[in-house]
Amino acid sequence: MNCYECRRVSGTTNPAEAVCSQCGAGLCSAHVRIEKREVHQPHGLGKSSADLPGRRIVCPVCERAEHSE
Ligand SMILES: [Zn+2]
Ligand SMILES: [Zn+2]
Repeated sequence: MNCYECRRVSGTTNPAEAVCSQCGAGLCSAHVRIEKREVHQPHGLGKSSADLPGRRIVCPVCERAEHSE
């Protein structure tokens, strides 16, 4: 599977490393958005994600849709 965002935005082909849990689009490391499942925290807390209860992977489009309210 290739990154859907790379194809859609720039027409390039990059191998996908993750899949959006919302729309199922393949995502490369540049386009993947990882969210904490429990709380919405701002970025840059310097905290490792290893001890978090869960994570959710979304694409930039789904992330924007969710935070547009
Ligand atoms: Zn990409
Ligand atoms: Zn998506």
